[in-house]
Amino acid sequence: MSYEGTTIPRSDAPAGKCDYCGHPFPTTDRLVLHKGLEHPQQLDDDEEDAFLSAREDEEDELRTLRLKALGALVLLYFGFLMLYAIVA
Ligand SMILES: [Zn+2]
Repeated sequence: MSYEGTTIPRSDAPAGKCDYCGHPFPTTDRLVLHKGLEHPQQLDDDEEDAFLSAREDEEDELRTLRLKALGALVLLYFGFLMLYAIVA
């Protein structure tokens, strides 16, 4: 007997709830970020460390996303330029 494919839906098992306001979060990263942003006074050292590194991760992600968006825009621009050069 195999139980593969009978995974528990994610919404039923949130990664965690905020200790301070009870708000549920789908991932621990989100929870950590929320605690750092909404309850900075209540954080202990471990939570503060987790928040700082989670925020750095997110900033890296944002930077990568922004770079990708810029790259796509430049590609699109040159794509149209080439198209124009060929068609016109
Ligand atoms: Zn909270």
